Amino acid sequence: MIPSVRRLTVVCALAAALAACGTAGAPGADRPARSTVPASPSSSRPPLLAPGPSGLTPVFEHGPRTLGKTVALTFDADMTADQGPRAAAGEHFDNPDLIGALRALKVPATIFMTGRWAEQYPVEARSLGHDPQFEVANHSWSHYAFTDDCYGLPTVGADGMRTDVERAFASLRKAGVPKPLPYFRFPGGCYDQRALRALSGLGVTAVQWDVVSGDAFATDADAVTRQVLDGVKPGSVVVMHCTRSAAPTTEQVVRAVVPELRHRGYRFVKVSQLIGETAGHR
Ligand SMILES: [Zn+2]
Repeated sequence: MIPSVRRLTVVCALAAALAACGTAGAPGADRPARSTVPASPSSSRPPLLAPGPSGLTPVFEHGPRTLGKTVALTFDADMTADQGPRAAAGEHFDNPDLIGALRALKVPATIFMTGRWAEQYPVEARSLGHDPQFEVANHSWSHYAFTDDCYGLPTVGADGMRTDVERAFASLRKAGVPKPLPYFRFPGGCYDQRALRALSGLGVTAVQWDVVSGDAFATDADAVTRQVLDGVKPGSVVVMHCTRSAAPTTEQVVRAVVPELRHRGYRFVKVSQLIGETAGHR
């Protein structure tokens, strides 16, 4: 069973700019079937979850809880289709210092990048796309919502969903991300059966999360840090953002969270590793 609409319960500002404020994880009883396709060790193809019935797009939320203390930090590079004028006026939708901190701390991470962001910041997109410490995946081109009611974001019609995702892959490649991962994060984390069906056949695994950092629009880095540290479990996927304007505390949070989680015995991995472990674990 797949929930009709994943409703986010955290109170967050309704700025259409940045939508993955986050859900406090998925209701456990109705999560999609988790049959998986094991990754071949000899293959360079990224691991995927197996599609659901009729090829329905599979949804990944976290890795195995029993295979040791691994955690994946994920960063959404949000930029909405109509935000070009704001960027031109000086608003920063990127966060180079955050990426620098991840590099300095040697934390592998997964970046969910919108196509619009890649077009605005091609040098940074290319740098991320060529750095083996990172993997870059798809966060739509427009950052419009794939359901009707998602934080006031403009919506993509069902007939435009597949095109929006394909356009994002094209923009990422054009910006210099040679191999974007076949993972897709819904803007705002909002999806339903219709959206999963619309993306069937694209060969993507949708990636949600089980830990909401709460960094969107946050001003108190300590509170965000506590929320992450309280939420992480073995196999967790943490959602954060790499945009200065809408998530100004994230670099500070990362600098606090990383050493503490390492102190607790955690190892940082990319989402692909957790999906692969999930595949191999079944
Ligand atoms: Zn987003």
